[in-house]
Amino acid sequence: MAIPLTADRLLTALRNEGLRVVEHRDWRTHNRNHKGPFGPVHGVMIHHTVTEGTQQSVELCYNGHSSLPGPLCHGVIAKDGTVYLVGNGRTNHAGLGDDDVLRAVIDERELPSDNEANTDGNRHFYGFECVNLGDGKDPWPAAQLEAIEKAAAAICRAYGWGAASTIGHLEWQPGKVDPRGFSMDTMRARIKARLGRPAGSTTTPIPIEEDDVSAMEVLTYRNEAADKRSVEETGQRIPDFYGYVVQTHGLARTLAAQVGALTATVTTLAEGGGLDAAEIQAAAEAGARAALAELGDALTNEDQEA
Ligand SMILES: [Zn+2]
Repeated sequence: MAIPLTADRLLTALRNEGLRVVEHRDWRTHNRNHKGPFGPVHGVMIHHTVTEGTQQSVELCYNGHSSLPGPLCHGVIAKDGTVYLVGNGRTNHAGLGDDDVLRAVIDERELPSDNEANTDGNRHFYGFECVNLGDGKDPWPAAQLEAIEKAAAAICRAYGWGAASTIGHLEWQPGKVDPRGFSMDTMRARIKARLGRPAGSTTTPIPIEEDDVSAMEVLTYRNEAADKRSVEETGQRIPDFYGYVVQTHGLARTLAAQVGALTATVTTLAEGGGLDAAEIQAAAEAGARAALAELGDALTNEDQEA
C-alpha cells in the first residue's frame, strides 16, 4: 500500500532528482487532513496556475482563496524550474474525478476519457501547480518542463511507479483543461526516459517537438531568454549557443534566397529575349521562394531585397 511520503522523504526525493527546492513557510504541517484522508496515494497530477509571477503564485497556492482554502497543491513549479513546497498531506488540487481513470492509473494502463466526477482525487494524488497563464500562449520554458519531468519522476521513483502514474488535471476531471501548452503523452515519455536513468541525471533531450512550435521558434525563445539572463546577471549580452544557431540560420536562409534568385535570373536571361526589370524581378523572387522552400522557410519581406 502506497502510504504518503514523510516531508523529509518527499524533499529528499525531489532534491535527489536534481531539483532546486524551496521550503515555503510551514509546508511540512500545512494540509487539509482535517477535511479527509490522504492516501493510499496512487499518482501525480500536473496543473497550471492561471497566474503569473512566482511569489504571487506560491502565496496563492499556500493560502488558497475564500472558496478554496489552501494548500492548493504540494509543490509549485516556477518558470525557472524551482519547486516551492507549500503543502504536505491532503491538498486541494484534484477535486472529484473519474474512478475509471483512477483504476487505469493504479494499473498503469492507457487512460479512458474522464467523463465522471465521482471520486476524491485529493486523497490519492500528489499535485504540482505549474506557473502558467494557461492561455495557450504563455510559454513553457525548457527549465520548467524539465522540472515537471523531474518532480513527477522523483515521486514515481520513490514508489517504484512507472510514468503512467502521472496524469494531467484535464485527464482526471471533466471540464478541466490544465495543463495547457504541452501534451501529457510527451511529458510521460520524458518521465519514462528519465526513470530509465539514475536519479539526478541531467541529460534531457531538447524538447523540440513540444507545443507544436518549430525548432527555430524554440531556439529563438531560448536565445531571448539567455540574452535577458546575461544582461540581468552581468550587465552585458554574452553570445551563447542559441544565439549562434539563430544567427547562422538567418544567414543561411538569406544566402539561400540570394543564390536562388541569382540562379533563376541567370537561367531566364540565358533563355534569351528582351526582359524588362519586372520580369527579372519576378524570376528572382520565384527562385528565392523555391530555394527557401527547400529549407522549409517562407519568403518574407525582408528577403525580397535579396
Ligand atoms: Zn488543475
